[in-house]
Amino acid sequence: MKAYRWVMEGRGTPLKRTAFVPGKPDNNEVVIAVAGCGVCHTDLGFYFDDVRTRHPLPLTLGHEISGQVVSTGQSAGSWQDKAVIVPAVIPCGVCDLCHRGHGTICRNQKSPGIDMHGGFASHIIVPSTGLCEIDIKRLAAIDMHLAYASVIADALTTPYQAVVQAEVETGDLAIVIGVGGVGGYAVQLARARGATVVAIDVDQAKLDRLKDFGATLTINALEVQGKDIRDAIRQFATAQGLRQTEWKIFECSGTAAGQASAFGLLTFGACLSVVGFTMDKLELRLSNLMAFHARALGNWGCLPGYYPDALELVLSGQVSMLPFIERHPLSEINEIFSRAHQGKLVGRAILVPDE
Ligand SMILES: [Zn+2]
Ligand SMILES: [Zn+2]
Repeated sequence: MKAYRWVMEGRGTPLKRTAFVPGKPDNNEVVIAVAGCGVCHTDLGFYFDDVRTRHPLPLTLGHEISGQVVSTGQSAGSWQDKAVIVPAVIPCGVCDLCHRGHGTICRNQKSPGIDMHGGFASHIIVPSTGLCEIDIKRLAAIDMHLAYASVIADALTTPYQAVVQAEVETGDLAIVIGVGGVGGYAVQLARARGATVVAIDVDQAKLDRLKDFGATLTINALEVQGKDIRDAIRQFATAQGLRQTEWKIFECSGTAAGQASAFGLLTFGACLSVVGFTMDKLELRLSNLMAFHARALGNWGCLPGYYPDALELVLSGQVSMLPFIERHPLSEINEIFSRAHQGKLVGRAILVPDE
């Protein structure tokens, strides 16, 4: 089997195409022919910034992966030939935490592109634990290529886990701060669960796009700031007949400014979900949680058990992915990384093996 992957040897040095032999998968492992792999903010953090992968370099990045199983270990035989999404966080499935349903904090979890070679490759070898099977016919019926389903891992499922654990339901007011690759799906997911959604960003084009995909009110944080954001949402809630309490707030920008805005929107019984990541620190009055009887939650990826539910929202048309995706050949990975880093991409880039 001919295979190659694009390997990172050092921070910021050009990724290199390297041939490798996938070899025979272990008992519970599968070899997947990669259909596509999404470029995530986290990959850029590993490549351009000070964020470290757990596996030492050289390493192939990429943790949003879809593809087809081409060979299996002995106990993973049922996966042969299936189209799948690889979970971005793969719990071990056998430890005490996993048995109690806490796979996202499993201490033996593995992530492609962080603990092992990832998806910017023609093939990957991963444990079969938590793989999500895709019905290719239903995917084709909504004009989705298998490569596009890669973005379900992480970009869609991470906000899905957040929306589930925040218990978003009909009648809620949900506020999403930062509506890029992840936050845009948070908007759609909250809407799909019956919430009325406010989207906040500094990018007017991203806000405008979401008006057709679940955002009822959009706020440009370059124009409206601080207490004025809160006042605008209060007025909106009144006009819409929604509650002034129990807002469900999702911080997806991964910036200190976004986190400050999110915390500033806390109200009685509110739930603040931290979805985005930043190394930056924030000074805040944590006692507001107590005074408001509010909750602050985080989630590390998403339980594989939720992937089929998230996929179903896409297949049934409740969440749209195509307008938010751009496809590029994997051979252009170095150029795409730098364009993504410069914020020059409109949609989430999916790299597709092309040779
Ligand atoms: Zn990611
Ligand atoms: Zn485990």
